[in-house]
Amino acid sequence: MAGVLGGLPNSVLQFVYLIASVLFIQGLRDMTHPRTATRGNGISSLGMLLAVVVTVLWFEIASPLVLGAALLVGGAVGAWLAVTVETTEMPQLVGLFNGFGGGASALVAGAELVDRVVTGSGLPVGVTATAAIAGIIGAVTFWGSLVAAGKLHGVVGDSPVSSTVGHGIKVVTLAAAVASGVVLVAQPGFVGGAPVSSYWVLVAAASVLGIFLVVPIGGADMPVVIALLNSYSGLAAATTGFVLGNTVLIVAGTLVGASGLILTVIMCESMNRSLVNVLFGGLGGDDEMEDMPDIYEGSISETSAEEVEMLLDVADRVVIVPGYGMAVAQAQHAVAELAELLEEDGVDVEFGIHPVAGRMPGHMNALLAEADVPYDKMRELEEVNPTFSQTDVVIVTGANDVVNPMANTDDSSPIAGMPVLEVGEARSVVVNKRSLSPGFSGIPNPLFAEDNTSMLFGDAKASMQELVNVYKENR
Ligand code: NDP
Repeated sequence: MAGVLGGLPNSVLQFVYLIASVLFIQGLRDMTHPRTATRGNGISSLGMLLAVVVTVLWFEIASPLVLGAALLVGGAVGAWLAVTVETTEMPQLVGLFNGFGGGASALVAGAELVDRVVTGSGLPVGVTATAAIAGIIGAVTFWGSLVAAGKLHGVVGDSPVSSTVGHGIKVVTLAAAVASGVVLVAQPGFVGGAPVSSYWVLVAAASVLGIFLVVPIGGADMPVVIALLNSYSGLAAATTGFVLGNTVLIVAGTLVGASGLILTVIMCESMNRSLVNVLFGGLGGDDEMEDMPDIYEGSISETSAEEVEMLLDVADRVVIVPGYGMAVAQAQHAVAELAELLEEDGVDVEFGIHPVAGRMPGHMNALLAEADVPYDKMRELEEVNPTFSQTDVVIVTGANDVVNPMANTDDSSPIAGMPVLEVGEARSVVVNKRSLSPGFSGIPNPLFAEDNTSMLFGDAKASMQELVNVYKENR
């Protein structure tokens, strides 16, 4: 069947799918560097547009008019989200996208089963088995992603919880989903009779499983969970591709599945934690701080924008280390302006970027790029660490865990072994944050009490802007 594209041989469809697949791969390649990432996004989107348009028209799924209207509505919603969603809300948006991908895969696999029942075209084991897998992964991804996005957005409680009842529900629902899948595969005799009800029982059980898998995990670990669910959504799509016999869906799903898994591994390695620890370890609660001795007592020295300006005045090299607080305060423009002013005065300025600074991979790079900080000024952890001993001033703004020396000194700390930015090696360290509150890991930071550290208390944007103003006045 070849609707609007009537008469063309099937090889044309496969060739277009091949082009779309090449575009996905080129897009992913471009996304490996901030400079080409935007282009990569565009190229991948073009590949997906091509695949969707050709599939819909080829198989007469909708008329060109309906397809055009759907693309317009979808495009408008996408544009609205792109404009209105804050960068700090990106992880939950990505979470929702993953969820919709997983949900769509589960629904499409189910629709294919129903279609085969209605048309009497048979339910071979290859179709029912892959549909069962797509249904389980898709439903887990949909509901798991909704819970994850809800936790990040603060509409679902974000404390890590562990309960025997919760574990029991997970075991029972997993068993129910697998048993329903076995029934689906073993009884293709449903053809021509009742609807494929065991599939929907499977989806219902997997939905409850998805909720109970994510509910116990602390909100702070959600970005890793979202990367993992991203991988699941790819797997669900690829499996649905097998149900439909659609090659481009298999390729796209596999690429998403593999890249999501790689991202998950990178995030876990950067935090020096195993995936099992993320999923079951419960880091990110509020209680870590409770039994901590007051390591700050009498050792904190507070500074002001005027004093920091004096340090900068005589500095030859300055490194700025941004963290989650810079994103919260949206301080990137003030930070970029400060760097520009210093450079104009002949100071060597670089940015030290930790791989897990902020709450999503590349968070700091994206914010600084938005403020036009050149990419060659952003130094990765391995590059910048050896330079701290030759640095006059380090300005840490809104970062905490990524500069916590306890990672190297305390084996019992939740961040033990995590590679950190060794800013304490510099001549002077200025830490800008609003208080002595802990960051993501909930532990104190001995850096704040070091002799060469002074605390510039305040909101990152307000403090950096004040510093810029004072620096300009004294030029
Ligand atoms: P942290 O979460 O360790 O610390 C952020 C600090 O920012 C807080 O201590 C807070 O202190 C301060 N802050 C918050 N709001 C403001 C503001 N408006 N102005 C100034 N300061 C502010 O952040 P880091 O970036 O150092 O570390 C990231 C952490 O997140 C790591 O532990 C990492 O493992 C984890 N993580 C990262 C992921 C990623 O992909 N990037 C994914 C999952 C986890 P105060 O309240 O006193 O101002």
